[in-house]
Amino acid sequence: MPLKPSILPDLIRAAAETIDAHAEEVTALDQTLGDGDHVTNLQRGLKALSAKSDELAQMSDWSNAFQKIGMTVMSSVGGASGSLYGTLFIALAKAYRGDRPVAPTSLTLETFAGTFDEAVAAVQKRGKTDVGQKTMVDTLVPVADALTAAAKGGEPSTGAAEKVKQAAVAGMESTRDLLATKGRASYLGERTRGIVDAGARTSQLMICAIADALTGQKT
Ligand code: ADP
Ligand code: MG
Repeated sequence: MPLKPSILPDLIRAAAETIDAHAEEVTALDQTLGDGDHVTNLQRGLKALSAKSDELAQMSDWSNAFQKIGMTVMSSVGGASGSLYGTLFIALAKAYRGDRPVAPTSLTLETFAGTFDEAVAAVQKRGKTDVGQKTMVDTLVPVADALTAAAKGGEPSTGAAEKVKQAAVAGMESTRDLLATKGRASYLGERTRGIVDAGARTSQLMICAIADALTGQKT
């Protein structure tokens, strides 16, 4: 189903609601492994995006919409996650436009999968992070792979959403037993084992909420 930027207010709301609903749980994770500000960082960004919802919904070009989201996140969210999420959306904007003078106005699974893959690679480059270092990258990479596989297999949108959600949850869960070697958590060494990474958890929560919003499911 081709999507227009008019869907963005619903997706921003879905992401904000799930972060609010899990705020206590995630803050406890980030208090143990980080400095405890991850949820407030994300909430600041999501609030700034909500304030721009109407403007984003009016945009006719996905590339410009992703660029605006990225710039808004960069300027409103502090911490590592602000620059990494900002990078994700700015890279999406660039990849979605590609060599075309005008980016396609409709977004489909096929056009999105490749651009998301490039955007996740940009996040990895920015954070100098690979899979297995107990970060949001452990959620984002399997999600990019699941999107690519679903696009190649011609999955209908509900099947694709289900596979993306499973990949996000498995990726998030994989961080539990990993040793953190990136970000603030890396200072804690072996003590990081047994606890899920906050950024892996919030990226999984937002991806699952967006997948549900796109397929009209309530969670
Ligand atoms: P900060 O660590 O600066 O306080 P946040 O608390 O908002 O920023 O975000 C922390 C999350 O950011 C971590 O849980 C982790 O998932 C992610 N993160 C931190 N550093 C990196 C990195 N180099 N690459 C990928 N993700 C990272
Ligand atoms: Mg923090």
